[in-house]
Amino acid sequence: MPLIAHTLYQVSTATALVEGIYQGAVPIAVLRKHGDLGLGTFEDLDGEMVIVDGHFFQVRSDGSVREVEDSVLTPFAAITAFSPGSPVVLDSCPDLAHLTSRFDALRHSDNVFFALRVDGKFDYIHTRAMRRTKAGVPLVQAAAVQPEFEFHDISGTLVGFWTPEYAKTLNVPGYHLHFISTDRTRGGHLLQCRGKDLRLQIQLEGNLHIALPETADFLKANLRRDPTAALAQAEGEKK
Ligand code: ZN
Repeated sequence: MPLIAHTLYQVSTATALVEGIYQGAVPIAVLRKHGDLGLGTFEDLDGEMVIVDGHFFQVRSDGSVREVEDSVLTPFAAITAFSPGSPVVLDSCPDLAHLTSRFDALRHSDNVFFALRVDGKFDYIHTRAMRRTKAGVPLVQAAAVQPEFEFHDISGTLVGFWTPEYAKTLNVPGYHLHFISTDRTRGGHLLQCRGKDLRLQIQLEGNLHIALPETADFLKANLRRDPTAALAQAEGEKK
């Protein structure tokens, strides 16, 4: 057994995001204390957050990417200190389902969280980036008008998490990955990918630390509903 369990630190809950709780709750400066790899979004759902090697990037709905300052706020994010073992090389990856099935084989439990990282040259990447949205607009409605992006022959990194089914009110169940290009000019929430010679890394997260926002909209929100269907619709490829 590992002597030190890794901690997944997250801000707010999946249900809160689904219900339109987009008010900024925690600054990047605080996230930074809890790790160097992760993902999330920004106040008013203003784009996708990609955290890689301790750098925090914002991928906006116009496709632009910028590194954000410590004072910027997030309503929802997850981060960990990533120090996995040696990477596993995936020779050929025809699609995202193949990638996740490979990670399935590397996971040895359905009952803990995992942090994930994939590096390599991708033949194809399909992402989306949330457009700034008014608080209270449900995530499904906001996601219906999300701009999508396609990239070909692009080097980059996927970062994210695998969340157990039982934790579906807390975080997006199953796989959730964000992409950033090596030159840090392209990115977003991953919808599809294809590549060769990809390096996969995985780390078990045995501790969960949730910072519940004390913002007015979080404190008053109705978080009793089951977010499963809305998350599947908002986070996956459009059918
Ligand atoms: Zn995402």
